[in-house]
Amino acid sequence: MAARKSVRVGTARSKPGVWTTGTLRLGDYPDGPITTPVNIMSGSEPGPVLWVQCAIHGGEIVGAIALLHLFKKIRTARMKGHIVGIMATNATAFRAQQRLTPYDGENLNRLFPGMPTGPHSRQTADVLFRTATGVADAMMDIHSGGIEAVVPFYGLYFDDGSAASQEARRLAESVGSDVVWASRDAWLDGAMFVNFTRAGKPGVIVECGGGGWLTEEHVANVAGAIEGVAKAMGILPGKPPRRKSYTVVRDCDLVFNTKGGYFLPAFDVGAIVKKNAVIGRVMDAHGEIVEEIRSPVGPAYLAALGKPYAPIHSGAMVAECIGVE
Ligand SMILES: [Zn+2]
Repeated sequence: MAARKSVRVGTARSKPGVWTTGTLRLGDYPDGPITTPVNIMSGSEPGPVLWVQCAIHGGEIVGAIALLHLFKKIRTARMKGHIVGIMATNATAFRAQQRLTPYDGENLNRLFPGMPTGPHSRQTADVLFRTATGVADAMMDIHSGGIEAVVPFYGLYFDDGSAASQEARRLAESVGSDVVWASRDAWLDGAMFVNFTRAGKPGVIVECGGGGWLTEEHVANVAGAIEGVAKAMGILPGKPPRRKSYTVVRDCDLVFNTKGGYFLPAFDVGAIVKKNAVIGRVMDAHGEIVEEIRSPVGPAYLAALGKPYAPIHSGAMVAECIGVE
């Protein structure tokens, strides 16, 4: 990894030993620039650069809050290198507090590496990808279940056997969770962490919390995850919170309901369930249980689940079931 003296992201220019701020232009509204706030924390000495992006799904704000908690705690005297925080990665979705880009309904985290002259969200992806690969040695993308779903606390990396992928696994094992999703899932082909890894640099996703609710535990988990990765990269002093063993999960099935109503989860998220176990039910507007939703695989880690009593239409994504290795 490069030992960088300084980094520049948009209008933010790092200075040794201090927290600097600025904005990164992601595109344009009809009447002016679309920007995200940028925070850069820099050590007193040169070192690697960790890029942390928050709220790529606009309602998933845990990363931004956790990053602020961590930055307020960091003492830069023994820090080497930089942590770059992108606070509203999908800025228009963040303002709307929704998962997808309001202008085109796109999921920004399926469009990397982006297109410089493509449709709106692909241009945003291009700006983020070029900027991040230009300055950073590794990237983290912080997610939660957003408003309607809940997720457990775990790390996720792209498992293609490359050197960058192996380093990504080491970073995913440094976030403080004992669950790691080693993904080869084709539906994540356009995710930032996958394309970053393909570009030869490690990328990881951290998932935690959701349900439109942020607890101090969620914030502490994610702040610890960013701190753990920064320690594993040698940016912050000390050892990352590595576990003795990890539950490795792979191949995610997205589970959809067919009847509308209210979702009644049958397990806590993060549970490991058998194949065909009933993981949730749908109660219609007249109080009848009209559907039982089962895990298509097993043993399966429930990596996402609709929140209790979430009103759901047919074909809502109510669960992610990932095979346990
Ligand atoms: Zn997300």
